[in-house]
Amino acid sequence: MINKKYLHLGTERSSIRELFEYGKMKAEIIGSENVFDFSLGNPSTPPPAKVMRAFDEILSENDPMAIHGYTSAQGSIKARTAIANSINKRFGINASADEIYISCGAAAALCSVIGALSENSDSEFVAIAPYFPEYKVFVEGQGATLKVVDADTEDFQIDLEKLSLLLNEKTSAVIINSPNNPSGRVYSEKTIKNLSKLLKERSKEIGHPIYIISDEPYRELVYDDVFVPYIPNYYDDTIICYSYSKSLSLPGERIGYVYVPSSVSQSKSVYAAVAGAARSMGYVCAPSLLQEVIARCCDTEPNLDDYKTNRELLYNALTEYGYDCVKPDGAFYLFVKAPCGDAKRFSEIAKEKNILVVSGDSFGVKEYVRISYCVNTDMIKRALPYFKELINC
Ligand code: PLP
Repeated sequence: MINKKYLHLGTERSSIRELFEYGKMKAEIIGSENVFDFSLGNPSTPPPAKVMRAFDEILSENDPMAIHGYTSAQGSIKARTAIANSINKRFGINASADEIYISCGAAAALCSVIGALSENSDSEFVAIAPYFPEYKVFVEGQGATLKVVDADTEDFQIDLEKLSLLLNEKTSAVIINSPNNPSGRVYSEKTIKNLSKLLKERSKEIGHPIYIISDEPYRELVYDDVFVPYIPNYYDDTIICYSYSKSLSLPGERIGYVYVPSSVSQSKSVYAAVAGAARSMGYVCAPSLLQEVIARCCDTEPNLDDYKTNRELLYNALTEYGYDCVKPDGAFYLFVKAPCGDAKRFSEIAKEKNILVVSGDSFGVKEYVRISYCVNTDMIKRALPYFKELINC
């Protein structure tokens, strides 16, 4: 009587979560100072002061409905208007509140959009390796299939020839994520223009739109003034899944949104289907307190100081030791080639030294490991001698 698919998902934890839980267990035994946990993308920087003030203000205003009440299923008009105004200003677009659906983080946004675009069990979605492993869960959870484009390990852009081979009449959407988890790379304007051209041509040939689902939890986490193209400005059939988990350091609060621009084919029906999919999964009415915080703070910029320090420290040290990796443009991950060529083995050997890094096979790239550097800088400094030893593994 138990659903086998869900039983499997509930018992086989993601390897990232598995490692994170292992780290917590190990810390209890040998002390947290002796465990170097680079597994999870849990922001180490506290939320910006403006966000913390907004929490205080809202709580002191003592309006129980604004804090604890239900909002409309799609989110309060106040928060949706604030978000629409903010992206209009930043990206020169013309979004309106009724194109925004507030969600419980990017995960709920993605599940709702994937559900909305899964016409039947034949529907296919395409991800670009390296990719966030939960995409497979989200897509298969909706009864559809995930196809994966092999990674371009030269510069971690998109191999369009390989992508083209995976597109067919069953393809609903291509999921992209830039700045990317785990590579830290931003897809360049050239990549996005070429991707748009390819998808326009193939949509025409196939006879229906191939949507882009742009998963953007790391949009604001960018270094060295790298330009992050706003995809709806290049490709009409783009749906945005945004999250405040990383940009405002609020991952446990579960807040983000879906944006279905009016340029999307059948945009009103797509929005309604997103609302319907969210409803069917119980993702209605994201936390009211957080919606109120976002209404006041959606323009707030993240504090990148610690991540910048960590990125320089880790990248410089690891490349000096002889590791091969691309310098991240954004997010807070370093994707490093395992010196032995086998990421799973490297991750196991590192674990013996209490260094927890995620093997890249979870992300569709077997030779690389992900090091999450949204951690205490001191922990990185203390872990460096171990990384130096591990180059010879
Ligand atoms: N997409 C990517 C690429 C992520 O890295 C994450 C979280 O780590 C998510 C989506 C889910 O984000 P959220 O916490 O907003 O659900």
